[in-house]
Amino acid sequence: MRTRRSLIDLDDLSAADLAYIFERTRAFEKRPPPETLKGIACVNMFFEQSTRTFASFNLAQLRLGAQVVNLSPKDISLATKGETIEDTAITLAAMGIAVLVLRHPEAGFPARVAKAFDGHVVNAGDGGHAHPTQALLDIHTLREEFGDVAGRTVAIVGDILHSRVAHSTVRGLVRLGADVVLVGPESFLPDSYAERGVRIERDFDAVLPTADAIVLLRIQRERFADMPLGDDDYVARYRLDAARLERLRPEAIVMHPGPYNRGIELDDVVLEYAGWRYAKQVMHGVGIRAAVLDFLVNGAA
Ligand code: ASP
Repeated sequence: MRTRRSLIDLDDLSAADLAYIFERTRAFEKRPPPETLKGIACVNMFFEQSTRTFASFNLAQLRLGAQVVNLSPKDISLATKGETIEDTAITLAAMGIAVLVLRHPEAGFPARVAKAFDGHVVNAGDGGHAHPTQALLDIHTLREEFGDVAGRTVAIVGDILHSRVAHSTVRGLVRLGADVVLVGPESFLPDSYAERGVRIERDFDAVLPTADAIVLLRIQRERFADMPLGDDDYVARYRLDAARLERLRPEAIVMHPGPYNRGIELDDVVLEYAGWRYAKQVMHGVGIRAAVLDFLVNGAA
């Protein structure tokens, strides 16, 4: 039976759902997943560019045996023919499409579609709002490393304000009992973030020796008009480089949701660091997305 659940942000998942998705991800990574989406039609609609998220949703769907249709903005008639996204949703549901994976520059867009679409909507990133599957794969990467994130210090560094990844990951980590430290200049990290159950720190160097994990973020230049501080200033205060790596605990890991900008939030030397977990994150992206799709369509076993 179809449960028609959607995933807009991590709040849509209970603690039991989270545990189930992490367990299924592990199982799917150990051996090829069963074709639990056989005969299920999925449409991926990405109104913004994507490499990792788009490819991994595709792969996950194909590995689960789904039928996959990819629509890019130029194929979507609402852009030029005046159709509303609600009407597009009705049209796709009438065709028997069961799953819509959506990326859009507008915060709230997937939630709007979910109201009109008789099927499952998966948010693959909406403006600066949320990116739940990225948060899940990041948390999965941390859990693989540390067993449990409770009590672990995770520092998220950079442009928190415009990062949908940071917004979703913070929600998840706080719920799971991690000690979350947000690090950045005021223009990228307003004081009001302290209300989210996290600590705020402006001085990256002070945080380095205390962190179990560092999550670096890209400056989301597409979401604001003028860079609020000079690149040189940002680099001097927040770029992870050789000197800052030296200050990390020996077992600390470094993560990045990608795409990373060499020379800005990280120096090339980070890519050689033993605790650099970027490739692990990307790898888990496929398993997490398969587990999420399977969970939304088939429910928990
Ligand atoms: N790939 C992530 C996103 O879509 C992070 C980024 O673009 O910086 O939000």
